[in-house]
Amino acid sequence: MSTTSMHPAANSPQGSTQNSQQAPALPYASRHDQLIGSVIDASTTLLAAYDHDIVKFGMGAPAPDMLPSKDFARIAGDVFSPENFTYGETKGEPILLDALHEYLSSTGQIPPEQQGNLDRLLITSGGMQGLDLGFKLFVSPGDLVACESPTYTNGSATAMSYEAEILEVPVDEDGMQVEVLEEHTARTGRAPKVIYTVPTFQNPAGVTMSLPRRERLLSFAHKHRSVIIEDNPYGMLRFSGESLPALSDLSPNDPLIFGVRTFSKFVAPGLRVGWIDVDPEVRELAVNAKQTMDSCAAVPNQHLIARWLAEGGADSHVETLRVAYRERKMAMSAGLERLFPGEIRATDPDGGFFLWVTFEDETIDTEDLMPTALEEGVAYIPGPAFSPAGNFSNALRLCFASATPDRIDEGLERLRRAVDRYRSE
Ligand code: PMP
Repeated sequence: MSTTSMHPAANSPQGSTQNSQQAPALPYASRHDQLIGSVIDASTTLLAAYDHDIVKFGMGAPAPDMLPSKDFARIAGDVFSPENFTYGETKGEPILLDALHEYLSSTGQIPPEQQGNLDRLLITSGGMQGLDLGFKLFVSPGDLVACESPTYTNGSATAMSYEAEILEVPVDEDGMQVEVLEEHTARTGRAPKVIYTVPTFQNPAGVTMSLPRRERLLSFAHKHRSVIIEDNPYGMLRFSGESLPALSDLSPNDPLIFGVRTFSKFVAPGLRVGWIDVDPEVRELAVNAKQTMDSCAAVPNQHLIARWLAEGGADSHVETLRVAYRERKMAMSAGLERLFPGEIRATDPDGGFFLWVTFEDETIDTEDLMPTALEEGVAYIPGPAFSPAGNFSNALRLCFASATPDRIDEGLERLRRAVDRYRSE
């Protein structure tokens, strides 16, 4: 495997020089060179090519041993009936909208001001479609989109697919440095049209935006009329520390907040079901946009989730996940400390899936390290995947959620061997 194949640009049509030398370029749309793909998603295919055992710290997937698949197998008998295999309503199956609203209300995930208002919810095909709808509705070519740095690859890549200009705003242990965004705006006189943020248990850094920063970000957005895409797949997976209000809780019924949520991280990613929580006017437009994408999210999957929620499946399941992920995160933090003392800085998340590791030695290039790591039998996502400008070459993202503590130890020992080999080669 060549290291360059890890870079998103290699997935674009321009990445293939073979054809472009032989035939005239195809009449692609101007956005085609912004369709950079995702190093994260490509890693699934990359790993499939290896036939030895690999500890997978790369993909941000829930632990396979903890998916509620037995519940689904039981419920499926009722759900897999002919009427659930036809088209559904674009906004989502009413049974799921009701069960979801009930679940979110009863777990304090909808501010009281918004309770009872089903006109804000639209069921999507995963969180990714929520992001796509958000950027599609608000980004015209050349618009400025601010994202965190590092940011969730697929989020910034979606903004780029609508030809956004990306502004990377650094993240520290309190989340996005909103003051840097303010300074940039004051200096250039140009505020971002959209701010893309994962404020809680950020992907990839695992950090959580502090309350003062949340308030500051909201004031900034109100002052400049910037739309905030609040991507919140991990918020309910807190295993330590005090819970913080979502931006949408701090500013209920705010038309500038476009909330993106998903069932992928607390139910099952393969079902490909998520939702957006947005102003009803915005939802109308999102429904129209979704109708030209896929008409509706997978109907049987929506019914599976609806029944599972309605029978109370989520309550104990989420608690089980929190306990397991806490244990796994502690195993990963302890393993890193034991095996890389003084060599790395690692974040210390209170929830979610990820640890962000930065090597003190800036000459370590985690894209170059990757082939050796895979040979040793461990996978991660290299830092530059999380920066449109390709920063963070000496950093990497580790997902602690998918492996048991024993496997985490094994994976980190393999990573240790890979770094030693890489240094000596
Ligand atoms: N946003 C973030 C921050 C994520 O981590 C993910 C999943 N990795 C998504 C969105 C996409 O979610 P889904 O798999 O439901 O499309």
